[in-house]
Amino acid sequence: MCIYSIVVPAYNEEANIRALYDRLLAVMEPLKETWELIFVNDGSRDRTLEELEALAKVDNRVRFIDLTRNFGHQAALSAGLAHANGKAVISMDCDLQDPPELIVEMISKWREGFDIVYAQRLNYRKDNFLKRSGSKLYYRMLDKFSDVKIPRNVGDFRLVDRRVLETVNNMEEGSRYLRGMVAWTGFKYTTVDYQRPDRESGESEYTLSQLTRLAMSGLFNFSIIPLKFGLYLGILSIFMGICFLGYMTWDVVIVGAKYEFFKFLVVVLFIFMGFLFILMWLLGEYIGRIYNEVRKRPVYLVNKMGNFEGESVSLQHKD
Ligand code: UDP
Ligand code: MG
Repeated sequence: MCIYSIVVPAYNEEANIRALYDRLLAVMEPLKETWELIFVNDGSRDRTLEELEALAKVDNRVRFIDLTRNFGHQAALSAGLAHANGKAVISMDCDLQDPPELIVEMISKWREGFDIVYAQRLNYRKDNFLKRSGSKLYYRMLDKFSDVKIPRNVGDFRLVDRRVLETVNNMEEGSRYLRGMVAWTGFKYTTVDYQRPDRESGESEYTLSQLTRLAMSGLFNFSIIPLKFGLYLGILSIFMGICFLGYMTWDVVIVGAKYEFFKFLVVVLFIFMGFLFILMWLLGEYIGRIYNEVRKRPVYLVNKMGNFEGESVSLQHKD
């Protein structure tokens, strides 16, 4: 058991591993506390694994997990988190975009009693316009729709207390949106600010489709609002159908206009389509419920208990 675990997923990061290790060393050694560094090699195609093996030989606090193939960032991070032993666990990227020096500040917040410390970036990266504005819009949408408050502009650079870690490790859901899962636990959190620098070396391996998938996980795993669209669409369709029908009837009865029969049919169809949409929403509600049941999130988490014999630490209830 050590005090701190640092978990780093790495995909084609041969050039960054040493540099990250050196900078972490400079940050962690002065603390004079025990720590471990867990790398997860996410099926890299370069010499990442060799670098990790070499590093693990010279420093036994460096551990690594080599995955059989590329499973993606969130999966790799989950693997690392599942094997972290520390009382506080820090997750960060391998490409030095998450400055190790910030860890000191995160640790002091943890010592103050926060269970979760997010690193919140102040600037937007020199990404292209699409990624930048997409990212902004996305966070705004997520904020509006999602049932849990996921702080804006935080990535996967964070520190979590052991009890948060264990809750997240116990969540069995397959599509993992870790920052949302961490936020979901509801433990006391705070943020520390930083300027996110550009990637030290190599290219970002996150493709647009991976990024989209991540964004979708965030939206769909943490809100069932999209299911409600059927209801709104249905109501709109029925309302419009009724208006058209009313207008036509008025036209025929009062003005004396002549309408072909199929024109009435079209309007009636509008109304029926509305019912169809509403039916789809109803189905969606059931599906949403099934989804909530199958992923078996705990029903609640306890922060503290008073006057219960011997059970003063966090309890986790699983239904
Ligand atoms: N990464 C990973 N598997 C992947 C893609 C990325 O483990 O399939 C790791 C990568 O090595 C880095 C972190 O996830 O440590 C973030 O990746 P990247 O820098 O490409 O993302 P960005 O900074 O653009 O969000
Ligand atoms: Mg990066």
